[in-house]
Parts: sequence; structure tokens; C-alpha cells
Amino acid sequence: MTDTDPTDTDPTRRAPSTVSDIRTDPSGITFGTLHPDGRMTDRRVIRHADIGACPHVILDPAHYRADGACRCGDPTHDMAAWGYVWDTRVSLWVAPPDD
Ligand SMILES: [Zn+2]
Repeated sequence: MTDTDPTDTDPTRRAPSTVSDIRTDPSGITFGTLHPDGRMTDRRVIRHADIGACPHVILDPAHYRADGACRCGDPTHDMAAWGYVWDTRVSLWVAPPDD
């Protein structure tokens, strides 16, 4: 069976299906660079709980520190290219006002 096999009934292998599941799930998502020969480099696993704790649920490993904390509160982590704006009132990257 694979991680995505829909017939897999083992709950420890089941992908989280709700935000609540995501915030408490100890497993994670593997990111990396997959090469044509099947090798993966730059492999990094981000815990579902860390992604679920991000206010924007960002799916980019560069958005998470080594301890899993997201960088939505880091003004040096430029999220403008993703469409977010730095809000000085709350010291967070936030969605643009019209979103
Ligand atoms: Zn974040």
C-alpha cells in the first residue's frame, strides 16, 4: 500500500481530513527536489501540526524554521511575492485588504 491508497484503513497512515486533525497530527508532508532518476534531494518534512498552526497554511518548506515555527511574524521573510502585505499593527504578514 502507498500513503495515498484510498483503501488503506490503517488510521496511522490516513491523511488528516480536517483542520483539527491537521493541528494534532504528528506526521508531516515531505518536500524536496525530485530528480528524473528518482532521487530526492533537499528533503525536508514539515509536520502537519506546524502547517496547521500557520495562519495562511503555507505549503512551502522555506516558510518554516527548523523548529517548525512559521514565519508569518517575521518581517524579513518576504511574502509580498505571494500576495501578502506586512501589517505593522499586528506585526504579521496578512492577506491584502481586498481579499
Ligand atoms: Zn505562516
